[in-house]
Amino acid sequence: MAGHFSALSLLRQATGGHRRWTAQWRDAAPAADYDVVIVGGGGHGLAAAYYLAKEHGVHRVAVLEKGWIGGGNTGRNTTIIRSNYLWDESAALYDHALKLWEGLSREINYNVMFSPRGVMMLAHTQHDVQVFQRHIHANRQNGVDNEWLTPREAQRFCPPLSIASDSRYPVLGAALQRRGGTARHDAVAWGYARAASERGVDIIQNCAVTGIRRGPDGAVQGVETTRGFIAARKIGVSAAGATSTVMQMAAVRMPLESYPLQALVSEPVKPVMPCVVMSNTVHAYISQSDKGELVIGSGTDQYVSYSQRGGLQAVAHAVEAVCELFPTFSRLRMMRSWAGTVDVTPDRSPIIGTTPVPGLFVNAGWGTGGFKATPGSGHVFAWTIARGTPHPIAAPFSLDRFRTGRLIDEAAAAAVAH
Ligand SMILES: Cc1cc2nc3c(=O)[nH]c(=O)nc-3n(C[C@H](O)[C@H](O)[C@H](O)COP(=O)(O)OP(=O)(O)OC[C@H]3O[C@@H](n4cnc5c(N)ncnc54)[C@H](O)[C@@H]3O)c2cc1C
Repeated sequence: MAGHFSALSLLRQATGGHRRWTAQWRDAAPAADYDVVIVGGGGHGLAAAYYLAKEHGVHRVAVLEKGWIGGGNTGRNTTIIRSNYLWDESAALYDHALKLWEGLSREINYNVMFSPRGVMMLAHTQHDVQVFQRHIHANRQNGVDNEWLTPREAQRFCPPLSIASDSRYPVLGAALQRRGGTARHDAVAWGYARAASERGVDIIQNCAVTGIRRGPDGAVQGVETTRGFIAARKIGVSAAGATSTVMQMAAVRMPLESYPLQALVSEPVKPVMPCVVMSNTVHAYISQSDKGELVIGSGTDQYVSYSQRGGLQAVAHAVEAVCELFPTFSRLRMMRSWAGTVDVTPDRSPIIGTTPVPGLFVNAGWGTGGFKATPGSGHVFAWTIARGTPHPIAAPFSLDRFRTGRLIDEAAAAAVAH
């Protein structure tokens, strides 16, 4: 179908006037039934479909996407990738993902432009210093790289950073994960779609799930969609900001709140930002895209909403924070801003696993920070769906933890989870 990408195949296209390109994945029509239906064609759903086909031999899989693949949070995020989370369970999950990122372009034969340029988290208060140093020690115990930098070392790593001691929140140091970085968000969706489609998975766009049909025993029978009923033995919901409404179709109430989260980009400039910088205290995170735009993320709005737009005050605050950290950027013009809807759990950790409904699985609650987990999340979710029981890395992230109280509280641990 799409063919194998190699230096030679690209050269052939170039010398052939680029006339031989074919569609990168099949535009499938829905079949009557599947072994597994994945609801949501974001990175997580597409990755799960790919690993179901590749590692578990489950090829009768459909990914149903109400819009276009990657049009949800996957295509709207600021693409920060890191794994230096505090708790053992989180570090295991996110580092599983980071290891997969490191070989992903080769694995799916698609350039996802993974760029481990380093993610630096700034400490501005004594509390920040203590928290980050605690993270560094905990991360090292878990074999996750994270190191402490003095203000001068932080500036050497990121020259435009201001370390002036008279600023409102002076930089007291930074935690640096060198293996962290960014990837190209669209390419992740497209690459997984292409690789899954090659293994027989049907990628079905413009197909919204409107209901979940259950049998007399309560088990799932299939999904109602805008393109008719599709039978399925198993359903995996990976619908990010719409999880609560999709799960409600099977009468499952989720411990989630949905918020708009915004990002914006500046006009493109020559390379000025060699790494990713995050600041929880002044609350902004920033990197530079390959096109040259500075990519800036803000915090969530303070009210729940399903609108994919947010309040001006959130982006205004993020821009103020960036100007505080990087005074040289203060004359840059901003070009575009947008938002996604993020599902947030009470402990700011995701939910991956089985549900009280037989045959129904859920992968949700990634809040403001799930892009970094995409390959790992898809990998453990596929395992969970195929075997009907949680992958060991996913097991602590069960829906049940909100009943038992075994929370993984990254909210208290990190304050911000991008
Ligand atoms: C502005 C912003 C910045 C962010 N920055 C970062 C960051 O720097 N690093 C990081 O790690 N994370 C970040 N995130 C979070 C990250 O984007 C998400 O956690 C992650 O992309 C979620 O991926 P997903 O595949 O689960 O969801 P999505 O990509 O949202 O996919 C879910 C899909 O489900 C579809 N869907 C919903 N309802 C239905 C239905 N009824 N039927 C069919 N399809 C349906 C949607 O259309 C959507 O395409 C950010 C998010 C935003 C909004």
